[in-house]
Amino acid sequence: MTTPQSDKWHELRIVVGAAAGLHARPAAAFVHIVCGFDADVEVVNLTTGRGPAPASSITSLAILGVVQGHEISVRARGGGAREVLSALAALAERGFDEHGALPTQILHHQPTVNLGGPGDVIRGFAAAPGVVLGPARKLRRAVAGGPRPQGTPTQEAATLTGAIALAQEEVRRTRDVIASQAGPEHAAILDTQVMILGDTALSEPALAAIQDGVAAEDAWKAAVGAVVAQYQALPDLYQRARASDIQEVGRQVLGKIAGAAAPPTLNGPGILIAPDLGPAETAGLDPAIVLGIATAGGGPTSHSSILARALGVPAVVGLGDHILTVVEGTPLLLDGAAGTLIIDPDARAIAAYEAQQATRIGVPVARGPRTVTWSGEPVIVSANVGTVADARMAAEYRADGIGLLRTEFLFAGRATPPTEAEQVHAYREIAEAMGGRPVTLRTLDAGGDKPLAYLDHPAEANPMLGLRGIRLLLRQREILRTQLRAALRVAADHPLRIMFPMVTTIEEWREVRAILGEEEAAMGVDVQAGMMVETPAAAICADAFAPEVDFFSIGTNDLTQYVMAADRGNPATGHLAGPLHAAVLRLIEEVCAAAADHGRPVSLCGELAGDPEVIGALLLAGVRDLSVAPPMVAPIRSAIGI
Ligand code: PEP
Ligand code: MG
Repeated sequence: MTTPQSDKWHELRIVVGAAAGLHARPAAAFVHIVCGFDADVEVVNLTTGRGPAPASSITSLAILGVVQGHEISVRARGGGAREVLSALAALAERGFDEHGALPTQILHHQPTVNLGGPGDVIRGFAAAPGVVLGPARKLRRAVAGGPRPQGTPTQEAATLTGAIALAQEEVRRTRDVIASQAGPEHAAILDTQVMILGDTALSEPALAAIQDGVAAEDAWKAAVGAVVAQYQALPDLYQRARASDIQEVGRQVLGKIAGAAAPPTLNGPGILIAPDLGPAETAGLDPAIVLGIATAGGGPTSHSSILARALGVPAVVGLGDHILTVVEGTPLLLDGAAGTLIIDPDARAIAAYEAQQATRIGVPVARGPRTVTWSGEPVIVSANVGTVADARMAAEYRADGIGLLRTEFLFAGRATPPTEAEQVHAYREIAEAMGGRPVTLRTLDAGGDKPLAYLDHPAEANPMLGLRGIRLLLRQREILRTQLRAALRVAADHPLRIMFPMVTTIEEWREVRAILGEEEAAMGVDVQAGMMVETPAAAICADAFAPEVDFFSIGTNDLTQYVMAADRGNPATGHLAGPLHAAVLRLIEEVCAAAADHGRPVSLCGELAGDPEVIGALLLAGVRDLSVAPPMVAPIRSAIGI
């Protein structure tokens, strides 16, 4: 019988640097070490999703197909668990005692984790509601195939540049798919990838090495490895995390060199297990087979959560890296509202799930144009949209209007900002899709985690505390004025109002309001102008802003991250950045009170508005106007009380 202590799994993650991967001599050395300790040891190939395989069997290891550059998870339990992992880490650090091994990265050494045995409930962050039962599915990434004969330096250079061009083309295509599926604001991240692919800091050293007789893939791997190492040495956590962008780009080009062009896919219908949900990975997925999403990373208001909600797929994020070792096909029960994942649920859990499915009455449909609380007060439930397609969905879900039109979608993925005419066309289409219901257009909210190549934006150590939203636009006034003119043209014949993101001081507000006033006067069109309340300063001083603004919209995603000092994109701080904390609730209450004193409407458009669990608290704080992802309109109406 095993003791509770020896039941604990310990994990080591390695990017295999040995030229032969985990085959031949490196595999033999690995097995030799494993057999010398009293421990159960398993290996999972995290890059391909294969495994786990017993580490004491050389053939089982070989079947994992671990080649150079693959990331593996080695997990051990039993009395000798820690020791065997230390010995394996030392072997990996020595490059598996091979010549020509790339520097080995030991990513993760010996945390004591509960990997989730049968029936265990793993807690993450509720990202998109819905309960789903299905097999675990991992993304199958294309990986390099067998050996490729090396050509002359000229041929190798052409192979590399061709592969880079192909990868760029694919990323651009992916961008378009994402833009149409989830909204172009989610596709913006791919612009960065296109840029990295075109970066001479990667291609120049690789091409130089090729001239010295190195094969295209080795030259590229070395160039990528060098840049990754530089990123990983940076002191800033956010910037260190960007190393994964370079690695992703590195893999894409290697895939192209090997001629493996297949997009990532799932083996069949099931619950997708992924490190994080990025636009590139979602683009190749068939939404019909992704029953649910469980990610190791991400926080409740991170990009991945917003994307899952927009897709309407139940999701739990921030479950921790250990979920990546769940074996393909393992039954999973995911509850997107509770933020839980049960691995291999027992008969009782499955029966409860089935009973719940049997009594399900379907998604509640709004019964009228207005939602009212049980006490009879009207509440507006609008939608957050980022594209024309979203707006159509919002109309279908019978949202009361658009409470937040994120206009970033028009500005991302291009070399120059959109013209006034282009913007008029897009805003008009969105307003028309809403058939006369009000639209609140937010001016461009670039900067922070949403940089745009053509904006003159200095490098910043803390972009989230730097030139974001209106701070940036006040330095790029022509872009601001063009956008305002486009919005005013549509406001002339549609119920459209304008709001500004990241307003922090009254001086900023007066400055942008004056610019808007000039454009209004020039065009002879007046609009309602409001501000987002996203900074503690704006919330605390809401009474100072109230006489001067037409309305407020509380952006709880940013407000929470700034109040709680918790990065909204970092899973480690998700427990602070996601839920409604009393500190944030008090500020919401104060903003509502200040607005009421001056007869100003307040809406709430952060992700909290779409959380049925906190609706009661928000109503008590005085909120009567919510804006949520389109698929959440009906569930939120139900939570309010109709
Ligand atoms: C917010 O910060 O709550 C918000 C709605 O804006 P975004 O998520 O686009 O930053
Ligand atoms: Mg915001």
